[in-house]
Amino acid sequence: MLCSYSWKLLGLSAFVVALSVECVVQLLRRRRKPLREVLFFPAGVTCTDAELHPERPVPCTCKLPHVESSLNRLLRHLLSARQSLDLCVFSFSSLHLGRAVLMLHERGVRVRVIADSDYMAVSGSQIGWLRKAGISVRHDQDTGYMHHKFAVVDKKILITGSLNWTSQAIQGNKENILVLDDTVIVQAFVDEFEKLWELYNPTTYNFFPNGINKVALV
Ligand code: ZN
Repeated sequence: MLCSYSWKLLGLSAFVVALSVECVVQLLRRRRKPLREVLFFPAGVTCTDAELHPERPVPCTCKLPHVESSLNRLLRHLLSARQSLDLCVFSFSSLHLGRAVLMLHERGVRVRVIADSDYMAVSGSQIGWLRKAGISVRHDQDTGYMHHKFAVVDKKILITGSLNWTSQAIQGNKENILVLDDTVIVQAFVDEFEKLWELYNPTTYNFFPNGINKVALV
C-alpha cells in the first residue's frame, strides 16, 4: 500500500508530465510555419485524377501532364477539409471544383454555399448539382452582385482571390488566389460568411422588392 508521501509524489509526477506535454504542444504550435501560398492562373491543363479520383489505379496512364498546377494545389487545399467548407462564389461552373465540393459533401464535411442569384442560374452552373446533392445553398437578394470569391476550410484556412470558379477563369484568365491560415484574417472571413448566411436566410426572403433586375443595372 502506498503511504501518503508516495501518493503526493505520484501526484506531483503526473502534474509535471501534464505540464511538460502542454509546453511541448504550445512550442510546436508556435513553431508551426504559417500557411502563406499564392497561386496564379491560368493553370496548365494537368491530370487531376490524384485529387478527384483517388479510387482509380495509380500511376495514372492518361495523356495529360502529371505535374502540379495551380488547379491541383487549389483542389488539394479544398479537399483538406475535414469538418466544414464555407464557400462564397460569384460564378461557379468548373466541373473540377464542383466535383471537389461534392466529394467533401459525400465525405460528411458540412458544406455551405453562398451564390449570386443571377449567376447561379446560368448555363453550366454547378449550383443546381450541389443543391440536388443536398448541399445548403443560399443566394443574395440584392440588386448588387454577390461578388465574393472565397472559401474557408475548417474555419482555419482561407482561400480567396480574383478567381471565379469557372473553367474559363482557371485555364484562360490571369487570376490569383491567396491561401492563408492567419487567424485574424480567417476570422474576418468567417464572420463575413456568417453575416451573409443569415442575411440570405430564405425565411426572410424579400427578393428584389422593387422589381429591379440587377442585370439591367450593369
Ligand atoms: Zn492522369
